[in-house]
Amino acid sequence: MSTTASQAITGPGRAGATDAADDGNVYIRPAATAPALAFQNVSLVFENGTHALDGIDIDIRPGEFVSLVGPSGCGKSTLLRLAAGFDKPTAGAVAAATSKLGYVFQEATLLPWRSVLRNVELPAELSGVDKATRRAAARDAIERVGLSGFENHKPAQLSGGMRMRTSIARALTVAPELFLFDEPFGALDEITRQRLNEEVSGLYRRSGFTGVFVTHSVAEAVFMSTRVVVLTGRPGRVAADIPVPLDFPRTPELRYTPEFGAIAATVSAALHDAERTDITPTGRAA
Ligand code: ADP
Repeated sequence: MSTTASQAITGPGRAGATDAADDGNVYIRPAATAPALAFQNVSLVFENGTHALDGIDIDIRPGEFVSLVGPSGCGKSTLLRLAAGFDKPTAGAVAAATSKLGYVFQEATLLPWRSVLRNVELPAELSGVDKATRRAAARDAIERVGLSGFENHKPAQLSGGMRMRTSIARALTVAPELFLFDEPFGALDEITRQRLNEEVSGLYRRSGFTGVFVTHSVAEAVFMSTRVVVLTGRPGRVAADIPVPLDFPRTPELRYTPEFGAIAATVSAALHDAERTDITPTGRAA
């Protein structure tokens, strides 16, 4: 089927942006109105008195890929848990436009006695999806993360990167519209991490989900994102909101371009400023 330049598509990239597709046409993305995920003046104080987040306002548009970076303990994971509805804010509101959520944790969190295939099909199995349907969805997801041929392996037989791919495949089986990543690649070696950054970026580009990615790595954040939000030390506040107007697909060479370096420098500078925020014993930023 041929397509025209005026045909609107939804997918990765900022609303209203253009994207040169593989077929040579340029597609215009519609300017979306409702956010896919919104944090409105969100504060959170845990029961033990820890003030984790303070007055967070972030609007994430459909199709954006937003990385959250900030000092350790500034509330990045807490923000993801709020986005998924696992926690509730003490003040303010969190609104997600979809309940089709993918969530990838810092650990792959696989069941050691189940094979790759049986781990990936677990969410569908728990939801009562019939065996043939869930097997087909699991095999498709396994193929999309490059693990075909490893369906019958147990987690202990896999490398750390392969375990994380399995975890991503498991999340893909629900066809997530909002995909939340809680620093999934922090424990991997640098080369494996870069490969997985390229693959997640490819999945994002092809699938069109909205992505929120927690990381400590500036390079990882810039490589995958359309936007990087930098948080201050605890209690986390938004310190900077930096667009990443780099084209897709994001290829390995991108890391060596001046454009990439300039954005990474901006994010690093914002992160250094954010890390200078002192934390008092009450958890209040000085
Ligand atoms: P980050 O992901 O940025 O490292 P977290 O969101 O994990 O930070 O945690 C933010 C702060 O809240 C930290 O000081 C952490 O110790 C604290 N915290 C996280 N979860 C809880 C909890 N359930 N109860 C009390 N304090 C918590």
